[in-house]
Amino acid sequence: MSEKKSYCCEMMENNTAFNCELHIDKYECPDTLIDYNPKSNYYSIIIHDGGTSGIEINFCPWCGTKL
Ligand SMILES: [Zn+2]
Ligand SMILES: [Zn+2]
Repeated sequence: MSEKKSYCCEMMENNTAFNCELHIDKYECPDTLIDYNPKSNYYSIIIHDGGTSGIEINFCPWCGTKL
């Protein structure tokens, strides 16, 4: 049994996954666009302003699937 989370589309999966070698935190990495909080089950678009702010989203910005 796989514990891997399923994503609505490849874009969502790629942009939520954080596998950057240049940055320690996904909030510092301009290549990472989406943050997923497993505790609250919320997705948010990361605002790269140097802090850890984000805008909560209810639909996938790429394919429009409800999250
Ligand atoms: Zn999607
Ligand atoms: Zn990076």
